[in-house]
Amino acid sequence: MASDNMLSSLANASDETEFYTPMPTGYVPGRTKYVVVFGTVMSGLGKGIFSSSLACIMQDKGLTVAPIKLEGYLNRDSGTLNPYRHGEVFVLDDGMECDMDLGTYERMLDQDLTRLNFTTSGQIFSTVLEKERQGRYLGRDVQMIPHVTGEVKMRLRELAVASEADLVFVEIGGTVGDVENAYFIEAVREMAYEEGSQNFCFVALTYVIEPPALGEQKSKAAQLNLKLLNAAGIHPHIIACRAHNPVTTKAREKLALYANVPMARVFSMHDCDSIYVIPEMLRGAGIDAAVIELLSLAERVDPVREEERRATWNDYIKRFRNARYPITIGVIGKYTALRDSYASVIQALEHAGATFSASVRIDWVDSSDLTASNLSERLAGLHGIIIPGGFGVRGVDGKIECVRYARQNGIPYLGLCYGMQIAVIEYARHVCGLEHASSTEIDRDCPHPVIDLLPEQADIVSLGGNMRLGGQDVELQPGSLAARLFGGARQTRLRFRHRWEVNPAYLDRLTSGGLVFSGWAPNQPIVQVLELPESTHPFFVATQSHPELTSRPLHPSPFFLGLVRASLIRSGVVPGDPPPAAADSAPAGACECRMAGSD
Ligand code: GLN
Repeated sequence: MASDNMLSSLANASDETEFYTPMPTGYVPGRTKYVVVFGTVMSGLGKGIFSSSLACIMQDKGLTVAPIKLEGYLNRDSGTLNPYRHGEVFVLDDGMECDMDLGTYERMLDQDLTRLNFTTSGQIFSTVLEKERQGRYLGRDVQMIPHVTGEVKMRLRELAVASEADLVFVEIGGTVGDVENAYFIEAVREMAYEEGSQNFCFVALTYVIEPPALGEQKSKAAQLNLKLLNAAGIHPHIIACRAHNPVTTKAREKLALYANVPMARVFSMHDCDSIYVIPEMLRGAGIDAAVIELLSLAERVDPVREEERRATWNDYIKRFRNARYPITIGVIGKYTALRDSYASVIQALEHAGATFSASVRIDWVDSSDLTASNLSERLAGLHGIIIPGGFGVRGVDGKIECVRYARQNGIPYLGLCYGMQIAVIEYARHVCGLEHASSTEIDRDCPHPVIDLLPEQADIVSLGGNMRLGGQDVELQPGSLAARLFGGARQTRLRFRHRWEVNPAYLDRLTSGGLVFSGWAPNQPIVQVLELPESTHPFFVATQSHPELTSRPLHPSPFFLGLVRASLIRSGVVPGDPPPAAADSAPAGACECRMAGSD
């Protein structure tokens, strides 16, 4: 139990004391408990996948969970990061542009997150500097400890108050030993002390090396890195060992001995064939029981719900392992060399694939390699085509030609954001006769700017956080293919991240040319979904949104279900209707990922 007296004396810190621990209104010590996950040895261990899986099995027990990722970089959000270096920019419903791990949490937990779930050093330092200008540090010199760490603790407690969660999952970005995340580690050390025993659980994810030349697992790097954590004042309660093969008892014993952690709490987290198998693997290993015991949470567990959820997950695992109809979807992009830049597209295809027992192979096509002469040979054999989101000019001609190929050859097509804009340009040029039609993003002086800047974007000069961002309602035209994909719904909600739109001045000409605009922003002339009539094409749908961001294993995106279904038909399979998406229906998602990935 946290010491209430100690916390309130910290909250009332003055210039007379060394303590500085601002406390959000309504914070109840001991109500919310914390699990902190650290990465050691190296990055890329799949820390986000591990923490979200652990959060998932605690949620399965009926506990409410709220994850938070603490990023060491100075950017305020991930909006200006190059996806080629950092992976996809994930967008939350409230418009926060964040790390792709937040997507993993949303998918695993089937829960929408907000900006409270994502903190960067940039956010922390700007708050501290602002407070300093407001004189809120009472004449003190502003220091990393206690002021910057105080701000980190404030964020964690604010999330606890806002979410009323039983458990806050804190994922510390980077690796122990990095300069950038050292103050996050210090902040959780301080906070664990303030909150008292049984309120904090420290989990160290580490890596056991198995050099092929030795054919034996070596734990020295893990031992040394766990010592670094000890030197920072953190004694882990649980060690999870990432490795290619199951970690041997010998390696686990060494870690237990050197790190002073009981053997029963040193777990093997070896590679597996799907990230959605990991929750069951963690459960099987007993990590959930260890957390419940360490944090005295037994009374909050709902065993009936846990059994139901367990059955749901097991059913899912069966489904994804059963995928038997192979189809190939071409994803045409610029960053195809780095799969992480399309992480959510890959996931969304897997979710939809498993629904129809399809094993989806992705053929990555770099549009800058495509020419009129090699295009049909390169795209032959694809059962469906996706043009995902993108920015700028590179590879655009190849993308336009891909859409033409899909349209003229009846290949199922799904355009996502830029992929919708490219479809409009292609249609304007080749069907509506608008020669050199383009987007002003590609050619500022084009004669027919069928895609133009959103009016509210015209005066924006800075980059970062100022696109049309986040969740928006979409009105679907009754009777359209889009409305049918959404089960006849009149309205849905999708996520956006764009500056350009279909130019309202060209709507009439495009419509009379045969393009159907079937999804609109309420009360604004912003096209959000378009399609070709099914009488002219088996499946040609594009959206200004990013439906891949809201596809979940338990609730696959209707756009992706539509594409996969049409692609199966093209491959000669007659797919059954997907089961209705309900919170407790069997989740789906054939998946070829290993646990390793972004962290
Ligand atoms: N570049 C386009 C725009 O800003 C599309 C953006 C995207 O695909 N996310 O509107």
